[in-house]
Order: sequence, then structure tokens, then C-alpha cells
Amino acid sequence: MQELVLPTTEQGIQMATGVALLHDPLLNKGTAFSLAERRALGLQGLLPPAVETLEEQAGREIENIRRLSKDINKYTRLMGLHDTNETLFYRVVRDNLEEILPIIYTPTVGTACQEFGRMFRRPRGLYIPITDRGHVAQTLRNWPHRDVRVIVVTDGERILGLGDLGASGMGIPVGKLSLYTACSGIHPAQVLPVTLDVGTDNEAFLADPHYLGLRTHRTRGEEYDAFVEEFVMAVQENLPLALIQFEDFGNANAFRLLEKYRNRVCTFNDDIQGTAATATSGMISSLRLVGGSLRDQKVLFYGAGEAAIGIASLIVSAMVSEGASLEEARQHCWLMDRNGLIVKGRDRLTEHKAPFAHDHEPITDLQTAIQELKPTALIGACAIRGAFTEPIVREMARINERPIVMALSNPTSKAECTAEQAYKWSDGRAVYTSGSPFPPVDFGGKVYVPGQGNNAYIFPGLGLGIVASQARRVTDKMFFTAAKALASLVQESDLALGRVYPPVSKIWEISATVAEGVAEVAFQDGLARIDRPDDLKALIRSMMWDPQYQDYLSAR
Ligand code: NAD
Repeated sequence: MQELVLPTTEQGIQMATGVALLHDPLLNKGTAFSLAERRALGLQGLLPPAVETLEEQAGREIENIRRLSKDINKYTRLMGLHDTNETLFYRVVRDNLEEILPIIYTPTVGTACQEFGRMFRRPRGLYIPITDRGHVAQTLRNWPHRDVRVIVVTDGERILGLGDLGASGMGIPVGKLSLYTACSGIHPAQVLPVTLDVGTDNEAFLADPHYLGLRTHRTRGEEYDAFVEEFVMAVQENLPLALIQFEDFGNANAFRLLEKYRNRVCTFNDDIQGTAATATSGMISSLRLVGGSLRDQKVLFYGAGEAAIGIASLIVSAMVSEGASLEEARQHCWLMDRNGLIVKGRDRLTEHKAPFAHDHEPITDLQTAIQELKPTALIGACAIRGAFTEPIVREMARINERPIVMALSNPTSKAECTAEQAYKWSDGRAVYTSGSPFPPVDFGGKVYVPGQGNNAYIFPGLGLGIVASQARRVTDKMFFTAAKALASLVQESDLALGRVYPPVSKIWEISATVAEGVAEVAFQDGLARIDRPDDLKALIRSMMWDPQYQDYLSAR
């Protein structure tokens, strides 16, 4: 073996040789190492003789994945690939995104989180237990990459609609960050999944010998807040350009932490704000089918948690930007939670629900609420399977020529109604969107392709816009801009199928467009930490990492 001056890769990752190179997922190319590389990098004999291209490797992988009948086994195989060869993993994901998205994210990732302790093979991301308080900065410094640009952090309290999964929720930050790379090209060395382990109140997990998190109940109150504060400040010091995305925190903490940090650091909450932008975009596009403006709509939310309040708040902002007063705009949004309609005078209304409490008699059931309020749009975010029953959907279709029905709860098993039910019970008139994907529906001789209000339409592009402009804050204006950018890409051909989102296969273009809009807001509003480049579009495109192997010998 010739003498080696070990280079760094294009992303500044220190090269390795021999077995260490094969075991480094960011550098490994497997059978795609050329003969010259094998000789120079100490790989001779460690690989079968054939030299393959990335495309040949990717072809084999997707064939193997398709051979598996269960989605959870596909997930395991894909995670194995993620852990051994990231370039190949992202090539396969990018080239088959529509097929693979439901496996690496909702719904399959939900099952993977539930089975995390049993399926565990190899750690990914940073686990920061509250027992390490006082040492969080040191833990962050153990992460091998210094140019981290996006962190997704969870405390596992509200994983999808599945509840408290504690440290088993790590699948969510890992999954979301793989979407950042697959959908907007943020390099895998620039993302960091984090679980803040503060215990779990999931009794089944606490009794499960395979549970891998802290075996205590959740810490709450001041101690919890001090721990999160230590984490956020440690990120500012050690990874100063990192955007922090809060993900799947319980309701009470999610709103509080967002308010606490949104004007102090570069952060957002995807469950609240990302969902809001995705759903608002869906509303904007639905109106092209339904007619009328946003201000003509009356929206009834079933569920008044992070998703619903986030969406209602952004719809209100959108109506205000159309000229409505704040009070008038709020009157167009009505919310129901587990205690019924949110009305003035109701007991114990939290701060974030209060703006949507209107003068009305209490109503406890959804059908009566629909009959009384006559909403044009019904948005489900209550994580209750089948909450939109046949009489509910029929009532919406009786009141409206084209009722907007969004059944956003995830995973699929929690959807308020399926696509088929929505089309059938509305005689094909519902403009339907779901949170998890549903297959096309053949009804009355017409094929409907339901849109999936997948947050992946927004957060990867939004994050890229933040990274590209090095924005110091994430603002509501950025989310509204992102929603409009996404809606602008919906074609008449999409609407003809009943789909109010562009196809996921266009995600690269979608993310670039969203990123450009978001970065432009950062520049205009003085939030960017760099000067605006003359050609913003070109800057953004140049930052999107397309999974291709690098020739390590030419890099030396
Ligand atoms: P959350 O826990 O913050 O809120 C749930 C809400 O449902 C609460 O207001 C609760 O009172 C209400 N609820 C519970 N039982 C009810 C009942 N019987 N009747 C009426 N309301 C009831 O959760 P969240 O973050 O708002 O998420 C809710 C669901 O939306 C989850 O399934 C989540 O996966 C899904 N979601 C989907 C998307 C998307 O499609 N893009 C994005 C975010 C969240």
C-alpha cells in the first residue's frame, strides 16, 4: 500500500482507511470502491472483487426491499443501509421517495418507535439523559461532526398520535432528519438527532425489560425547564449555526418552549408551525376547487392541540393578510377538544386556546357542532380513529357543495376517516386530505388521488432556507411564505385528481422553492447572518447535496 496522506472529503470529513473506512457510513462505498481506491486505502481483500456503480448497488437494494412483504422489515433493512452506507441509502430513498417515505416516516416509523427496544441494533444520534444535567455541553462535544446545521430534538412525550414513548421516540428525529437530507439535500454530516430523556410515564415501557431509556417517571417543572435551557444554550455555544427543531413534545411543553425560545434562538416546532404551513397550503389550494377566498371559510377543528392551534393561528394570519381584522379572522376558526367546543367562559382554558374561545352555548358532540356552526372545512387532529363517522361526513356534504375534509391524525391507524370513506360518504364531493398516505380511490367511475398533508413538503425546504441564509430566527412570515410557495406548485392536473399538493416526486423542486422564499424573508427582515447573494436560487441549488460517491483519490 502506497504512503497515504489522508484527505478530508468535500464536506470536511476526515478520511479513514481499511476496515474503519468500510465501517464509516458517511465514507463507505462498499462494492463501489474502485480498484485503485482499494489499493490505496487498504481495502484489498476486504470486499468481493466486483466493482459496482452506485446505480447498480441501488438497483439491488430496492429489489431486496420490494421482496419484503412487511413494512417494518423494509424499515429495518433501510435502517441497516443507513448505518452502513449513507450515500447509497439516500440514493435509494431519493430515487424511490414516494414508495419509501411512508416507511422511513409515518406510518411505519411509529411501529418502529413502539418496537424500538426490541429492534435496537446500533445507536444513532445523541441521547441526553436528565441525569447528565450539568454535562450537556460535554455530551454535545462527543458528536463527531462540528458543522451541524439542523438538530431535531424530542423528549418522546407525544410521538405521532401514539403518546408517550420516552427514549424509544428517537426514531422520529432520525426519520425527520433523513427527510431533510432526502428532500432538500442537507448533508448527512450536518444533521443531529437528539433525544432528551427525562423519563417516561408509559407504564408498559417502565415494566418492559427491553426498554432502553431512563427507567423513571417524567421529570417536570423547574428541573425539566433547566435541563432544556442547558441543552439550548449548549447548542448556541457549541453548534452556533444549528437550527433547533422541536418535535413531538407533549402539548403543555411544546407551546411553552416555543414561546420561550422563538425570539431568543433559531428554532421552531414542526408539530405546531410546520403542520400549520402544510395545512394552510392545503387550504389555499383547496379553494381553487371549492371557490371563494380564505375569508369566506369557516373552519371547525376537531382536536385543539399543537396541530390544530398551529393551523388555526396561521389561517388567522393569512386572513389578516387578506384584510380581515384579527377578531374577525378568529371568528372563522372554531375548535373542539375532548371537553367539547371551545367557548368563552369554559373552565381551565389554556393560554393558547383562549384566543379561539367564542361566545356560544357549550356543545359536546361533533355532529351538533357541524349543524350549528355550518363549517366549510372540517380539520381532524385529535388522534382518534374513525372520529369522522358517516353521519359527520354526510352532514358536511349536505351543508357544502364541496366540503373540505382534512383527517390529519397519524399514523394511518389514527386517521379520523379514510380517503375512501370521505369520497363515498360525500358522493365524491369532498376535497380530502390526510396526514398519513392513502392509496387512490376508485369511486363512481372516477379515480381520486388523495393529497397527503405531509410536513415533509415544508420543513426540509424551510430548514434549507434557514441554513442558506444563516437566519438567526424562524418567523411566522417564513411559514406563511412557505405555505404560499408550496401552493404555487400545485398544478391543474393535480387538482383534477382531487389532490391539493404537488406529487412527492417533485420534492427537490418544492424544497428549493420553499427555501428560496424563506431565505428571502430572512434577508428582507434583517435576520440573515450573511449578505444576500446576487443569485439566491443558485446558492440554494448549490447547497443541495445529491447522493453521489466522491472519488477519494482525486480528493487527495
Ligand atoms: P395534541 O396531543 O397536542 O392534541 C390532541 C388534541 O386532540 C387535544 O386537543 C385533545 O383534547 C384532542 N382530543 C382528544 N380526544 C378528543 C375527543 N374525544 N374529542 C375531541 N378532541 C379530542 O396532538 P397534536 O400534535 O395536535 O397531534 C394530533 C394528531 O395530528 C396526531 O395524530 C398527529 O400525528 C397528527 N398530526 C398530523 C400532521 C400532518 O398531517 N401533517 C402534523 C402534525 C400532527
